[in-house]
Amino acid sequence: MECKDRNCPVHGGLKTRGMKITGTVVSDKVKKTAIVKVDYTRYIYKYERYLRKRSRIPAHNPECINATLGDAVNIQGTRRLSKTKSFVITGLANKKQ
Ligand SMILES: [Zn+2]
Repeated sequence: MECKDRNCPVHGGLKTRGMKITGTVVSDKVKKTAIVKVDYTRYIYKYERYLRKRSRIPAHNPECINATLGDAVNIQGTRRLSKTKSFVITGLANKKQ
């Protein structure tokens, strides 16, 4: 299948910049969009321990990648694609755990 997505980082003209993050797709209901859950840790000096945090990042899901629920994906920042999307999926990642 030919990829005709203008906002594809490989086949379209979309430039990526900024943060590269790996996460898991927790929702693929929206067309060409995936919600990516990212787990990360913050060090809290007072308790000398790490705090586990998570965030949900809406990312553009190009036709040629078409990530589905549960996929581990690499995402990278890009220009704002819609009101909430400013990340794009750049590929599937090797699954952790
Ligand atoms: Zn593509």
